[in-house]
Amino acid sequence: MRILVTNDDGVYAEGIRVLAERLRSLGEVFIVAPDRPRSATGHSITLHKPLRLHRVHLPDGSIAYATNGTPTDCVTLGVHAVLNHKVDLVVSGINAGPNLGWDLTYSGTIAAAIEGAIHGISAFAISLAAEEVLPVARSGGAAELSPSEQPVLYYETAALAALNIARLLQEHPLPEHTFLNVNVPNLPPNEIKGYQITALGKRQYADRIESRVDPAGRPYYWLSGSLVEERDQPGTDVYAVAHGYVSITPIHLDFTAYELMEPMQEWLSKLRLITDGV
Ligand code: MN
Repeated sequence: MRILVTNDDGVYAEGIRVLAERLRSLGEVFIVAPDRPRSATGHSITLHKPLRLHRVHLPDGSIAYATNGTPTDCVTLGVHAVLNHKVDLVVSGINAGPNLGWDLTYSGTIAAAIEGAIHGISAFAISLAAEEVLPVARSGGAAELSPSEQPVLYYETAALAALNIARLLQEHPLPEHTFLNVNVPNLPPNEIKGYQITALGKRQYADRIESRVDPAGRPYYWLSGSLVEERDQPGTDVYAVAHGYVSITPIHLDFTAYELMEPMQEWLSKLRLITDGV
Protein backbone atom coordinates (compact mmCIF):
# COMPACT_ATOMS: atom_id res chain seq x y z
CA MET A 1 0.00 0.00 0.00
CA ARG A 2 1.36 3.44 -0.96
CA ILE A 3 0.12 6.21 1.30
CA LEU A 4 0.48 9.94 0.64
CA VAL A 5 0.47 11.93 3.88
CA THR A 6 0.03 15.68 4.06
CA ASN A 7 -1.31 18.36 6.41
CA ASP A 8 -1.91 22.08 6.78
CA ASP A 9 0.16 22.67 9.94
CA GLY A 10 3.41 22.34 7.99
CA VAL A 11 5.93 19.58 7.40
CA TYR A 12 7.60 20.02 10.80
CA ALA A 13 4.38 19.72 12.82
CA GLU A 14 4.27 16.94 15.37
CA GLY A 15 0.92 15.65 14.10
CA ILE A 16 2.16 14.63 10.65
CA ARG A 17 5.21 12.89 12.09
CA VAL A 18 3.20 10.78 14.53
CA LEU A 19 0.66 9.96 11.79
CA ALA A 20 3.30 8.89 9.26
CA GLU A 21 5.07 6.72 11.82
CA ARG A 22 1.85 4.87 12.67
CA LEU A 23 0.83 4.34 9.03
CA ARG A 24 4.19 2.78 8.12
CA SER A 25 2.89 -0.53 9.53
CA LEU A 26 0.48 -0.61 6.54
CA GLY A 27 2.88 0.17 3.72
CA GLU A 28 5.08 2.82 2.17
CA VAL A 29 4.42 6.32 3.46
CA PHE A 30 5.35 9.45 1.50
CA ILE A 31 5.14 12.84 3.20
CA VAL A 32 4.48 15.89 1.00
CA ALA A 33 3.54 18.87 3.13
CA PRO A 34 3.67 22.67 3.19
CA ASP A 35 7.01 24.15 4.25
CA ARG A 36 5.19 26.43 6.72
CA PRO A 37 1.87 26.44 8.59
CA ARG A 38 -1.04 26.79 6.15
CA SER A 39 -4.08 26.38 8.38
CA ALA A 40 -7.39 27.87 7.19
CA THR A 41 -6.28 28.08 3.57
CA GLY A 42 -9.31 26.08 2.45
CA HIS A 43 -9.11 24.45 -0.96
CA SER A 44 -6.80 27.07 -2.45
CA ILE A 45 -4.22 26.30 -5.13
CA THR A 46 -1.12 28.10 -6.37
CA LEU A 47 -1.46 29.31 -9.95
CA HIS A 48 0.84 32.28 -10.49
CA LYS A 49 4.19 31.25 -9.10
CA PRO A 50 6.39 28.16 -9.37
CA LEU A 51 5.88 25.31 -6.94
CA ARG A 52 9.07 23.93 -5.42
CA LEU A 53 9.69 20.57 -3.77
CA HIS A 54 12.52 20.14 -1.28
CA ARG A 55 13.62 16.92 0.37
CA VAL A 56 13.92 17.54 4.10
CA HIS A 57 14.81 15.43 7.13
CA LEU A 58 12.28 15.38 9.95
CA PRO A 59 13.44 15.27 13.59
CA ASP A 60 12.86 11.49 13.71
CA GLY A 61 15.22 10.99 10.75
CA SER A 62 12.52 10.28 8.16
CA ILE A 63 12.50 11.97 4.74
CA ALA A 64 9.72 14.30 3.66
CA TYR A 65 9.02 16.64 0.77
CA ALA A 66 8.33 20.24 1.70
CA THR A 67 6.61 22.58 -0.74
CA ASN A 68 5.86 26.29 -0.91
CA GLY A 69 2.32 25.35 -1.98
CA THR A 70 -0.96 24.84 -0.17
CA PRO A 71 -2.22 21.53 1.25
CA THR A 72 -4.19 21.04 -1.98
CA ASP A 73 -1.02 21.63 -4.03
CA CYS A 74 0.72 19.03 -1.87
CA VAL A 75 -1.71 16.33 -2.97
CA THR A 76 -1.40 17.27 -6.64
CA LEU A 77 2.41 17.38 -6.39
CA GLY A 78 2.48 14.17 -4.39
CA VAL A 79 0.32 12.27 -6.87
CA HIS A 80 2.00 13.57 -10.04
CA ALA A 81 5.59 14.42 -9.11
CA VAL A 82 6.47 12.18 -6.15
CA LEU A 83 4.35 9.01 -6.38
CA ASN A 84 3.89 8.95 -10.15
CA HIS A 85 0.13 8.31 -9.83
CA LYS A 86 0.60 5.13 -7.80
CA VAL A 87 -1.25 6.21 -4.65
CA ASP A 88 -3.65 3.98 -2.73
CA LEU A 89 -4.60 6.36 0.07
CA VAL A 90 -4.31 10.06 0.94
CA VAL A 91 -4.30 10.94 4.64
CA SER A 92 -4.26 14.56 5.81
CA GLY A 93 -3.38 15.48 9.38
CA ILE A 94 -3.11 15.06 12.24
CA ASN A 95 -4.42 18.59 12.54
CA ALA A 96 -3.79 20.42 15.79
CA GLY A 97 -7.38 21.35 16.57
CA PRO A 98 -10.81 20.12 15.50
CA ASN A 99 -12.40 20.35 12.05
CA LEU A 100 -16.07 19.96 12.87
CA GLY A 101 -19.26 21.05 11.12
CA TRP A 102 -18.74 24.07 8.91
CA ASP A 103 -15.02 24.22 9.68
CA LEU A 104 -14.97 21.90 6.69
CA THR A 105 -14.97 24.81 4.27
CA TYR A 106 -12.11 26.73 5.93
CA SER A 107 -9.82 23.82 6.62
CA GLY A 108 -6.66 23.14 4.63
CA THR A 109 -6.51 19.71 6.28
CA ILE A 110 -9.88 18.75 4.84
CA ALA A 111 -9.11 20.39 1.48
CA ALA A 112 -6.23 17.96 1.00
CA ALA A 113 -8.63 15.04 1.49
CA ILE A 114 -11.04 16.67 -0.97
CA GLU A 115 -8.21 16.85 -3.51
CA GLY A 116 -7.47 13.17 -2.95
CA ALA A 117 -11.13 12.36 -3.66
CA ILE A 118 -11.05 14.54 -6.81
CA HIS A 119 -8.06 12.50 -7.99
CA GLY A 120 -10.15 9.35 -7.45
CA ILE A 121 -8.08 8.16 -4.47
CA SER A 122 -9.45 6.99 -1.10
CA ALA A 123 -8.81 9.82 1.32
CA PHE A 124 -9.48 11.02 4.83
CA ALA A 125 -8.69 14.04 6.96
CA ILE A 126 -7.91 13.52 10.64
CA SER A 127 -7.93 16.18 13.35
CA LEU A 128 -7.20 16.16 17.05
CA ALA A 129 -10.06 18.02 18.70
CA ALA A 130 -8.02 19.98 21.24
CA GLU A 131 -9.86 23.29 21.44
CA GLU A 132 -7.20 25.16 23.30
CA VAL A 133 -4.76 25.17 20.40
CA LEU A 134 -7.11 27.31 18.34
CA PRO A 135 -6.40 31.04 18.34
CA VAL A 136 -10.00 31.68 19.33
CA ALA A 137 -10.87 33.89 22.27
CA ARG A 138 -12.62 31.80 24.88
CA SER A 139 -15.70 33.33 26.39
CA GLY A 140 -14.42 35.86 28.87
CA GLY A 141 -10.82 34.78 28.38
CA ALA A 142 -7.84 35.73 26.26
CA ALA A 143 -6.71 33.82 23.17
CA GLU A 144 -3.08 33.66 24.21
CA LEU A 145 -1.97 30.76 26.35
CA SER A 146 1.22 30.72 28.33
CA PRO A 147 3.41 27.61 27.81
CA SER A 148 2.26 26.15 31.13
CA GLU A 149 -1.37 26.42 29.96
CA GLN A 150 -0.74 24.60 26.67
CA PRO A 151 -2.83 21.44 26.65
CA VAL A 152 -1.35 17.98 26.40
CA LEU A 153 -1.94 16.85 22.82
CA TYR A 154 -2.71 13.15 22.44
CA TYR A 155 -1.54 12.74 18.85
CA GLU A 156 -0.98 9.04 19.44
CA THR A 157 -4.74 8.57 20.03
CA ALA A 158 -5.47 10.16 16.66
CA ALA A 159 -2.69 8.16 14.98
CA LEU A 160 -4.26 4.91 16.23
CA ALA A 161 -7.63 6.05 14.88
CA ALA A 162 -5.95 6.84 11.54
CA LEU A 163 -4.47 3.35 11.44
CA ASN A 164 -7.87 1.78 12.10
CA ILE A 165 -9.59 3.90 9.47
CA ALA A 166 -6.87 3.18 6.90
CA ARG A 167 -7.43 -0.55 7.59
CA LEU A 168 -11.17 -0.05 7.18
CA LEU A 169 -10.64 1.64 3.80
CA GLN A 170 -8.33 -1.18 2.70
CA GLU A 171 -11.26 -3.56 3.12
CA HIS A 172 -13.98 -1.16 2.00
CA PRO A 173 -12.76 1.36 -0.59
CA LEU A 174 -14.92 4.49 -0.65
CA PRO A 175 -17.28 5.18 -3.56
CA GLU A 176 -16.19 7.81 -6.08
CA HIS A 177 -16.27 11.47 -5.07
CA THR A 178 -16.44 10.77 -1.35
CA PHE A 179 -13.96 11.01 1.51
CA LEU A 180 -13.98 10.88 5.31
CA ASN A 181 -13.60 13.66 7.84
CA VAL A 182 -12.34 12.22 11.12
CA ASN A 183 -12.15 14.05 14.46
CA VAL A 184 -10.59 12.49 17.53
CA PRO A 185 -11.18 13.67 21.12
CA ASN A 186 -8.01 14.90 22.80
CA LEU A 187 -7.88 12.03 25.30
CA PRO A 188 -5.51 9.16 26.07
CA PRO A 189 -6.30 6.08 23.90
CA ASN A 190 -7.89 4.15 26.78
CA GLU A 191 -10.40 6.95 27.43
CA ILE A 192 -11.88 6.83 23.92
CA LYS A 193 -15.43 5.45 24.16
CA GLY A 194 -15.60 4.15 20.59
CA TYR A 195 -16.16 5.19 16.99
CA GLN A 196 -19.32 6.83 15.60
CA ILE A 197 -20.37 7.45 12.02
CA THR A 198 -21.71 11.00 12.10
CA ALA A 199 -23.23 13.85 10.11
CA LEU A 200 -21.79 17.36 10.08
CA GLY A 201 -22.92 19.28 13.13
CA LYS A 202 -23.33 22.99 13.71
CA ARG A 203 -20.36 24.98 14.84
CA GLN A 204 -19.95 28.68 14.30
CA TYR A 205 -17.99 31.62 15.50
CA ALA A 206 -20.23 34.28 17.00
CA ASP A 207 -19.30 37.99 17.08
CA ARG A 208 -16.82 37.19 14.40
CA ILE A 209 -15.15 40.58 13.95
CA GLU A 210 -13.39 42.41 16.71
CA SER A 211 -12.73 46.08 15.89
CA ARG A 212 -9.78 47.83 17.44
CA VAL A 213 -7.98 51.09 16.90
CA ASP A 214 -4.27 51.28 16.02
CA PRO A 215 -1.88 53.86 17.59
CA ALA A 216 -2.50 56.21 14.64
CA GLY A 217 -6.23 56.21 15.39
CA ARG A 218 -7.18 54.07 12.39
CA PRO A 219 -9.54 51.14 12.85
CA TYR A 220 -8.41 47.59 12.26
CA TYR A 221 -10.19 44.29 12.58
CA TRP A 222 -9.35 40.94 14.00
CA LEU A 223 -11.19 37.74 13.14
CA SER A 224 -12.05 36.11 16.42
CA GLY A 225 -15.35 35.45 18.08
CA SER A 226 -16.43 32.91 20.60
CA LEU A 227 -17.28 29.41 19.58
CA VAL A 228 -20.92 28.34 19.39
CA GLU A 229 -21.43 24.60 19.11
CA GLU A 230 -24.59 22.53 19.19
CA ARG A 231 -23.27 19.78 21.41
CA ASP A 232 -26.67 18.26 22.15
CA GLN A 233 -27.50 16.90 18.69
CA PRO A 234 -26.84 13.15 18.76
CA GLY A 235 -25.55 11.77 15.48
CA THR A 236 -23.39 14.79 14.69
CA ASP A 237 -19.60 15.10 14.70
CA VAL A 238 -19.78 17.86 17.33
CA TYR A 239 -21.78 15.61 19.66
CA ALA A 240 -19.59 12.53 19.16
CA VAL A 241 -16.34 14.33 19.94
CA ALA A 242 -17.85 16.17 22.93
CA HIS A 243 -18.89 12.77 24.32
CA GLY A 244 -15.54 11.03 23.88
CA TYR A 245 -16.09 9.23 20.56
CA VAL A 246 -13.97 9.26 17.42
CA SER A 247 -16.20 10.90 14.81
CA ILE A 248 -16.13 9.63 11.21
CA THR A 249 -18.18 11.74 8.78
CA PRO A 250 -18.56 10.51 5.21
CA ILE A 251 -18.57 13.55 2.91
CA HIS A 252 -19.67 13.86 -0.69
CA LEU A 253 -18.04 16.32 -3.07
CA ASP A 254 -21.45 17.12 -4.54
CA PHE A 255 -22.77 20.20 -2.70
CA THR A 256 -25.95 20.37 -4.79
CA ALA A 257 -29.14 20.95 -2.78
CA TYR A 258 -31.20 18.49 -4.83
CA GLU A 259 -34.37 19.20 -2.84
CA LEU A 260 -34.25 22.80 -4.07
CA MET A 261 -33.98 22.04 -7.78
CA GLU A 262 -37.65 21.37 -8.42
CA PRO A 263 -39.05 24.28 -6.36
CA MET A 264 -36.52 26.63 -7.91
CA GLN A 265 -37.51 25.56 -11.42
CA GLU A 266 -41.06 26.48 -10.40
CA TRP A 267 -40.01 29.89 -8.97
CA LEU A 268 -38.01 30.58 -12.09
CA SER A 269 -40.90 29.73 -14.39
CA LYS A 270 -43.00 32.39 -12.60
CA LEU A 271 -40.40 35.13 -12.73
CA ARG A 272 -40.79 37.64 -15.56
CA LEU A 273 -37.26 37.36 -16.91
CA ILE A 274 -35.49 40.49 -18.13
CA THR A 275 -34.17 39.68 -21.58
CA ASP A 276 -33.50 43.00 -23.33
CA GLY A 277 -30.56 44.06 -21.17
CA VAL A 278 -32.28 47.28 -19.96
MN1 MN B 1 -4.13 23.24 10.87
